[in-house]
Amino acid sequence: MNGFQYATARSTDSARELAGEKGAYLAGGNDLLGLLKDYLIGSPEILVNIKSLPGLDKIEHGKKSWTIGSLVTVAQIEDDAEIKKTFPGLQQAAAEVASPQIRNVATVGGNLAQHSRCWYFRHRDTVCLKKNGDLCYAREGENRYHSLFTGNTCISPVVSSLATAFAALDATAIVLHDGKESRLSMNELYHRAWENPLAHNSLDNGDLILRVEIPTARSRSAYLQVSDKHAFDWALVSCAAAAEVAGGKLKSPRVALGSISPVPHQVEAANNFLDGKTLDDATASQAADMILKDAKPLAHNAYKVPLAHALIRRTLLKLKGDA
Ligand SMILES: Cc1cc2nc3c(=O)[nH]c(=O)nc-3n(C[C@H](O)[C@H](O)[C@H](O)COP(=O)(O)OP(=O)(O)OC[C@H]3O[C@@H](n4cnc5c(N)ncnc54)[C@H](O)[C@@H]3O)c2cc1C
Repeated sequence: MNGFQYATARSTDSARELAGEKGAYLAGGNDLLGLLKDYLIGSPEILVNIKSLPGLDKIEHGKKSWTIGSLVTVAQIEDDAEIKKTFPGLQQAAAEVASPQIRNVATVGGNLAQHSRCWYFRHRDTVCLKKNGDLCYAREGENRYHSLFTGNTCISPVVSSLATAFAALDATAIVLHDGKESRLSMNELYHRAWENPLAHNSLDNGDLILRVEIPTARSRSAYLQVSDKHAFDWALVSCAAAAEVAGGKLKSPRVALGSISPVPHQVEAANNFLDGKTLDDATASQAADMILKDAKPLAHNAYKVPLAHALIRRTLLKLKGDA
């Protein structure tokens, strides 16, 4: 590994100052240390340990929204009985992340900002589009884990399970950018990766995710993912759905999918279609058709279309208590 300095930030301002233009924030380290050991990111001059930043490790309950600090661990979300009651889809997503050991140290901020899992990007000697090369090797190569949708030539999908659940819950990330707090929907948090192959998300160097705010409006939520391995693995496809259910009818429903697009995949027309509907298998199936209508499968990832279709149907039906 290349040499670097290490510092612990005691305030958000000092974190920003210490990181400068060539530093990186270190939270749980699960992703960042792997990237460094494999020489995958341009050697940061300094690693800024942000784990001691005050106030970012709390889950706060409000009437209209809850906030989850960016240093809250994935395990805290998994184990929080109140989250399980209020945002079951988020708790289920947290419980699917990696393994108990990783969940104990992985943070919300790090989970959202984790880098691409594309095996060409992760190969030290492959200079793909994400590393300023001129070719997406996955397009014509091994693309079974890759996107069905993208706005650019890179087909690496977002793999954060929390991002999928947050998107369905219409959560907002509050990010410290240039000394000011900005509010980003999950779509905005990843939009740059949709259009720019170099980007993993929309954060600029030095941007710090402070917390995530989740409206309580959708009292029902659910999350399902399918992976090659039952544990210790990312999703092949993940799906989250959230809604209010009144008199058996859905109100303000949202469905989001992970691991099939550089952004959590959502289709407004399908959300509108579901609004006011009573859920049954045919309705859920019609919504799934709409969500996947424009999918562009490649040589090895066409299996994701029926998989995503089944997941959408099953996740939606979980909202009314059917499996
Ligand atoms: C075998 C395995 C299976 C996995 N399966 C899953 C899965 O199913 N679903 C899933 O979601 N994840 C999965 N993961 C990934 C894992 O959850 C992430 O690596 C972890 O959540 C990253 O969090 P961290 O706190 O360790 O981040 P770090 O490694 O510390 O940071 C990751 C990145 O985020 C940046 N960062 C950290 N905090 C902030 C912040 N507050 N603001 C701005 N930038 C920040 C860092 O600079 C770095 O670039 C898996 C990992 C492994 C090893």
